[in-house]
Amino acid sequence: MFVEKDSLIRMCRRAMEIFKEALFPSNIYCICCGEAITPSMLYSLCDGCLKNLRWANHASCDKCGKPLQEDYWRNLCTDCRETDFHFKRGYSCVEYGMFEKMMLKDYKYHGRPYLGDKLAWIMADRLESEDIKADWILPVPMERSKEKKRGYNQAALMARGLSRRMGIPWEKDLLLRHRKTQVMNNLSPSDRRENVLGAFSLKSGGEDLVRGRKILMVDDIYTTGSTLNECSRVLLDAGAEEVRFICFAAGSNRLHWEEDGS
Ligand SMILES: [Zn+2]
Ligand SMILES: [Zn+2]
Repeated sequence: MFVEKDSLIRMCRRAMEIFKEALFPSNIYCICCGEAITPSMLYSLCDGCLKNLRWANHASCDKCGKPLQEDYWRNLCTDCRETDFHFKRGYSCVEYGMFEKMMLKDYKYHGRPYLGDKLAWIMADRLESEDIKADWILPVPMERSKEKKRGYNQAALMARGLSRRMGIPWEKDLLLRHRKTQVMNNLSPSDRRENVLGAFSLKSGGEDLVRGRKILMVDDIYTTGSTLNECSRVLLDAGAEEVRFICFAAGSNRLHWEEDGS
């Protein structure tokens, strides 16, 4: 029997995942550091990791949900003051620091797809206090060859978990990514927009599914907002009523010299 190389890699990864889950069950060991926990521990995290996470439960941007500095006096972050983003509102669970970076790196690059459901649990709790009325949960799509190589799209696994917990349908391939995009960190705002422009589109017939609908998009990290902005533009152009998003982690607010006095 001929087995395609990519399928074989996926099968091996899945077998490894089952093997690891059997060796280190995710409700017995902390999903972050591996320390033994009781199954009742919140989010399957040990006390130390629960404390180490920088929870985004203080001031945040009214538009994108990015955590704001304690002494920042505005209600919009610097990016949202400079850019008229297409999305209506964003939410995040934690601020993206070293600890959160390590956690997401483990999730994405170390073959631990089962973390997606645990992180979705945190995201669902974050949204509980918000009045979210979405018709669809959609993950930020990953370029196909990249997803094949990794074996999974981390945003899709989170979207699936969130869908189950919120009782809102999700669809993995309604929004598609056609090409890889550069890492945004070192790009100017206009280069960022250029980088993602035209990178996404709806699947054939997708307009009928989004027209007049409220969309909740899901991603692991929010940084510049360019990707979610472009996804939102495509969905709104297709007739979606509004687009909100939730990211597990969000980068800290970028300050201007006139704002932080430096
Ligand atoms: Zn831990
Ligand atoms: Zn913002």
